[in-house]
Amino acid sequence: MNLEFDKKHIWHPYSSATNPAPVFAVDRAEGSSIYLEDGRVLIDGMSSWWCAIHGYNHPVLNQAIKDQTDKMAHMMFGGLTHEPAISLCEKLIKLTPEALQKVFLCDAGSVSVEVAIKMALQYWQAKGKSNKNRLLSLRRGYHGDTFAAMSVCDPDTGMHHIFNDVLMPNYFTEAPRCGFDEVWHDDYIHDFKQQITTHQAELAAVILEPIVQGAGGMRFYSPEFLKHVRALCNEHNVLLIVDEIATGFGRTGKLFGCNHANISPDIMCLGKSLTGGYMTLAATLCTEDIAETISNGEAGVFMHGPTFMGNPLACAVANASIDVLLNSTWQENTKRIETELRTGLAPARQLEQVHDVRTLGAIGVIELKQPVDIKVVQALFVEAGIWIRPFGKLVYTMPAFTISQAELQTLCNKIVSVVAKF
Ligand SMILES: *Cc1c(COP(=O)(O)O)cnc(C)c1O
Repeated sequence: MNLEFDKKHIWHPYSSATNPAPVFAVDRAEGSSIYLEDGRVLIDGMSSWWCAIHGYNHPVLNQAIKDQTDKMAHMMFGGLTHEPAISLCEKLIKLTPEALQKVFLCDAGSVSVEVAIKMALQYWQAKGKSNKNRLLSLRRGYHGDTFAAMSVCDPDTGMHHIFNDVLMPNYFTEAPRCGFDEVWHDDYIHDFKQQITTHQAELAAVILEPIVQGAGGMRFYSPEFLKHVRALCNEHNVLLIVDEIATGFGRTGKLFGCNHANISPDIMCLGKSLTGGYMTLAATLCTEDIAETISNGEAGVFMHGPTFMGNPLACAVANASIDVLLNSTWQENTKRIETELRTGLAPARQLEQVHDVRTLGAIGVIELKQPVDIKVVQALFVEAGIWIRPFGKLVYTMPAFTISQAELQTLCNKIVSVVAKF
């Protein structure tokens, strides 16, 4: 592979064009193994950022794509429909909380967040309350890189000041302080209550990641917080958008993050593992009330329609991925992974450079005291034979649900031994 060309001409995520960090050339992948071009094999600890929940190169998912390719790879969704989209939307409506009855298919997670925000704005507009056009979100949250999505990400880590003049001026409340298993105190909801009470006349919706705040800090919080948020949104006439793009499809040990609190949102965003990491696809679901109100409003329609909406290949592989998941013992697998991560990462607690170690479902996090130098540490993980991609102070793993016990043990041992070198 021409890595010189890559270095000279290709942007990678959050990369510098003049001083890029080295990238490693991948030839192929299978299960939880990533085969580098130079012959090295890495145990994958990232699932390609939450996505590849069944591992790579899965025969059932491969076959679904091949079969659909022979029928049609793409078809415009305006005025036409097809079986892969219909059966996918049936599944999504069945699996998510009952109140969610309408599905909008999008092409990426950030777009599904844009769509969710647009739904909330069009809803209040249709109700004659167009001044309800701001969002309330949590500090340390992450919702994507497009503009509306960026405007609800943590203002500091999202570097809002760079885009200050064009971002929607939204409101932020403190990141949840109550850990997943911690005893609840009403004080933990105080700031949220204050914000929603003060700004309710302007608020279209609250948007948050349920139970796990992902890319903004890998923080786990109490289901009690989510229950209080749901109640306060009802009380103050504000919609609730849950961004399940990272938490959806079993990652936290429940099918969806909001299942931990038994709450039902008004709008839900899905993405990432929706296709088992095969293709880019996302979905925004909403209630009957929102759909009807928008459709009775001035526009008479919902104002969005991406070119690749409902792409048949993506829908076909999403159908296959959901079937594989539901036919598997994913609850046992995520429990097994949680137990193994808890034991396997525990020795890191003794290290002086480590601030905290936490696990939930198939997610393990080591929070360091100092941010890492990615250029240095990335090479150390690869030399150790594992694929881990830290950011800031966080070294974290969310392996495929199918990772073997032996692979997982090696992964944990190597993570701890590399962290010990920092
Ligand atoms: C990754 C992510 C997004 C953005 O999805 P993209 O597919 O990268 O656009 C939004 N919200 C959450 C919680 C995510 O983890």
